[in-house]
Amino acid sequence: MSETIVKVQNLKKYFLVKLGFFHTLFSKQSLYVQAVDDVSFEIKRGEIFGLAGESGSGKTTTGRVLLKLIEPTSGKIIFKNQDITSLTESQMKPFRRSMQMIFQDPYESLNPRMTIENIIAEPLRVLDVASSESEIQQKVTKALEEVELIPPEEFVFRYPHELSGGQRQRVAVARAIVIDPDFVVADEPVSMLDVSIRAEILKLLFSLVEKHNTALLYITHDLALARHICDRLAIMYLGKIMEMGTVDQVIEEPLHPYTRALMAAVPIPDPTAKRIEVIIKGEIPSPVNPPSGCRFHTRCPSYIGDICRKKEPKLIDMGNNHYVACNLYPKKS
Ligand code: SF4
Repeated sequence: MSETIVKVQNLKKYFLVKLGFFHTLFSKQSLYVQAVDDVSFEIKRGEIFGLAGESGSGKTTTGRVLLKLIEPTSGKIIFKNQDITSLTESQMKPFRRSMQMIFQDPYESLNPRMTIENIIAEPLRVLDVASSESEIQQKVTKALEEVELIPPEEFVFRYPHELSGGQRQRVAVARAIVIDPDFVVADEPVSMLDVSIRAEILKLLFSLVEKHNTALLYITHDLALARHICDRLAIMYLGKIMEMGTVDQVIEEPLHPYTRALMAAVPIPDPTAKRIEVIIKGEIPSPVNPPSGCRFHTRCPSYIGDICRKKEPKLIDMGNNHYVACNLYPKKS
């Protein structure tokens, strides 16, 4: 059994809404965006765990809270058997050597004033991972070779604006793997790239995850991609996990009406294959004032009345660690 690298228990992240002068004058009530609300899961070494859902579902916030780039409101984050939930930034330093993030936008995430060498070397310097400048240079060269920016000497003195989008995202991957982390969060790492180069970058990322035996949290809105990439998958909606299991369980045998609706929107390569039409009505509601009971009830095609409006379904194991949060389950015999 592989080692659990990261485990979250009942994680919540609420953001205080800044209100205008008149609102604060007439109302004492504070408003919160319930971005992540009572989420629990774990990721093992060498595992790719996908977090999928529409924009506004809370998946990016979850990734950032896990790395403590933002502080959780409550719940626990256990990293390699140690509770890091309340650690200060200086106490986090030894853990930062084991965790990295790859951001969505390779145009924004790389400092335009730094050379490629300095961008990749930055985590080594900031986290005191290398003992000398020559060791830093060796590690930077090796990282550039691993992401196939070769020969490395042709890239080290360039600036981000001199590279293509795909090359920049390779630099972002090199920057993440240079410290040989145990855990990486990749937030939609190819969604800003040209379709023609997405597959190459993903193939590269996953071969490196496999080679380094890293735990990867892969955040995506694209279930077609998640199906090919992830080992396990959680579907998020308005800050909550609606369904979680292996990719085969969630994608091939979806139980939750929301997962089914998302799957209905994924293109099928075989035009003769049958598909059940599932329509989700309207827009995702505001996380400031989420619907009562089941958060999906205002859009659910399987809505079964008052129980959905009043009772918040718990995430229950339907067998073999396939979890679903819906009042349709467990089915009465
Ligand atoms: Fe739909 Fe009710 Fe299940 Fe929510 S609990 S997903 S509203 S059937």
